[in-house]
Amino acid sequence: MSESQNHAESKPAKTFSQTLRQGAIKETEELVKFELDVEALAGREALLINAYLVEDAEAAKHYWQELKQELLLQAEFRAENWLASVASPTVIDWLRLDFCIHRDASQLLAGEVAVEQKLCCAHCGGRFSVHESTTLTACHGCGSEVFAARSLPVQ
Ligand SMILES: [Zn+2]
Repeated sequence: MSESQNHAESKPAKTFSQTLRQGAIKETEELVKFELDVEALAGREALLINAYLVEDAEAAKHYWQELKQELLLQAEFRAENWLASVASPTVIDWLRLDFCIHRDASQLLAGEVAVEQKLCCAHCGGRFSVHESTTLTACHGCGSEVFAARSLPVQ
């Protein structure tokens, strides 16, 4: 028993360095394997991140295109509104000019002089008479500037 104990005591001293050496080798191998795994994982991760970035870049591109379209539509809408607001007085002026060209003596416009006439607003139908020379103003009832005129009967 004591011999075997001696044998057992001497053997661990031998195996200790071996175990230590084997442990160090195994540890190193595991470390290398771990390193390789990390590298492989990092490689896969890089590929995955790259795929995400490509996907995100594509989504961002899509988003920017939609935003650009929306902004262009807004700008177009504002430009249309601005042009309409600018164009409206011109259109009114053209209609007024057209009216002046094609009207006859039975129609008068605000700013013209009426004498001894019975006037009727072309818009609201408001009637009034003018005896003395009067420069017409816009209708007091509706603001229209067009009047149908008829001479007052001579008294
Ligand atoms: Zn009127």
